[in-house]
Amino acid sequence: MTVQEAVNKLDELELKEFALGHAMGILSYDGATAAPKKSYIPRGKTMGYLAGEAYKLTTDKSAVAILDTLRSHADELDDNTLRRLELREKNLKEMRAVPIEQYVEYTELMNEADSAWHEAKEKSDYAIFEPYLRRVIDFTKLFAEKVNPDIAPYDYCLDKYEEGLNMQKAEAFFSALRERIVPLIARVGAAEAPDESVAKVLFPIEKQRALSDILMDKLGLPRDRCAIGETEHPFTTNFTPDDVRITTHYHEKAFLSSMYSVIHEGGHALYELGVDPKFSFTCLSGGVTMGIHESQSRFFENIVGRSRGFIDNLYPDLVRLCPEIGKYSAQDIYRAANKAQPSLIRTEADEVTYPLHIMVRYEMEKRMINGEVNTAELPEMWNAYYKEYLGVTVPNDREGILQDSHWSGAGIGYFPSYALGSAYGAQYLAKMREEMDFDAVVASGDLAPIRAWLGEKIWQYGSSKSPDWILKNALGEPFDPGYYLDYLENKMKDVYGI
Ligand code: ZN
Repeated sequence: MTVQEAVNKLDELELKEFALGHAMGILSYDGATAAPKKSYIPRGKTMGYLAGEAYKLTTDKSAVAILDTLRSHADELDDNTLRRLELREKNLKEMRAVPIEQYVEYTELMNEADSAWHEAKEKSDYAIFEPYLRRVIDFTKLFAEKVNPDIAPYDYCLDKYEEGLNMQKAEAFFSALRERIVPLIARVGAAEAPDESVAKVLFPIEKQRALSDILMDKLGLPRDRCAIGETEHPFTTNFTPDDVRITTHYHEKAFLSSMYSVIHEGGHALYELGVDPKFSFTCLSGGVTMGIHESQSRFFENIVGRSRGFIDNLYPDLVRLCPEIGKYSAQDIYRAANKAQPSLIRTEADEVTYPLHIMVRYEMEKRMINGEVNTAELPEMWNAYYKEYLGVTVPNDREGILQDSHWSGAGIGYFPSYALGSAYGAQYLAKMREEMDFDAVVASGDLAPIRAWLGEKIWQYGSSKSPDWILKNALGEPFDPGYYLDYLENKMKDVYGI
């Protein structure tokens, strides 16, 4: 096989893999949005079958032969082909770590665990989810052991979501955050809290749906390529830059919750929509890592969406859709949207206390994977960490350990990427300010210059470069969490006058 033949075969193979992934992704999306509750039973069978086919395709000897040919000519390959080879080799190692029967069992477990998590959360009963979580942890440990026995199992989990991350780097990052965030929270706690009654006005769901449409327009999300659905837990799913889906969850008396989830997921969607279409149907399509992904979503949610300019610009629409908001000023909304206070729910946490929610999950996961705690003890441990880190008492499992869906999908190691992403975003902001009047751009309501900056430096590359390369390319200097801490302190100074 010549190099060109191998590349052609690789294109064919990746198109087939895309088709299977596409089908499975649509099934999952349907399961989370429109499908009836019991549909998880047939869906599990179909998903199991499709995952088995995907497994066979990827691990088949003809697929391995393609990689062998490319590997033996590695010095002749262009950068994109070399990156495809490296990503596929890493993935192949993971898939071959367990026999096919076990791989299919794992895929089916994901589906069942998701369903069990929904029921457990609904009933606020951790015992329903516990046996599934135990199996998820066992599988995670098994993969870690088989794929990379030379590193600590939790390092394997971290690297899976943020290429290159390990416990040493994560802990240095978290301790830098703790040093300035803990005293900042104390200063904020001593200051007068903003009145947040505007956040609790009754905002009919039908009107909130109209608000989502406005927000998607303001973000610049093309509706012929990006759809919105409604789910328990908001998420984004993507196939190519022609088909990206976001979801939200409406609460009649908490419009900011859905508003910021639409902006957050919209940030993920913009990234996916901005990937160069030449990477579609290959393993280079899609965002590169969860840390870079969260740096987009949290940038739009917090740095853009929670800014004074964005809220001023949106204010007339908010009043039009919900006249009761007219009793308040845009400044009232700005202050309510930026109120910082230790709380129970991560996705609704303010920017300042948010990283503490992540640190709780980091400590828990580390202990889960190291085998220092058994699954029955986890709720108690969760509650103790919330008391210690955030000073809040967890009243039930629903608002405690069952609040996030990640562990039901085996997303152990994912959470630190949220905090890292937030920190990357603050450094993008500092760099953007060197090139544009950022506040004026946001206040104008036309975010095109911001999209252009992110698109050129980050989005277009998809997964064709490592996250380190992308960060260096965007920042022009090493990552420094100091920007994030400066940003948080300045924000609190503006909101609380401290
Ligand atoms: Zn996100």
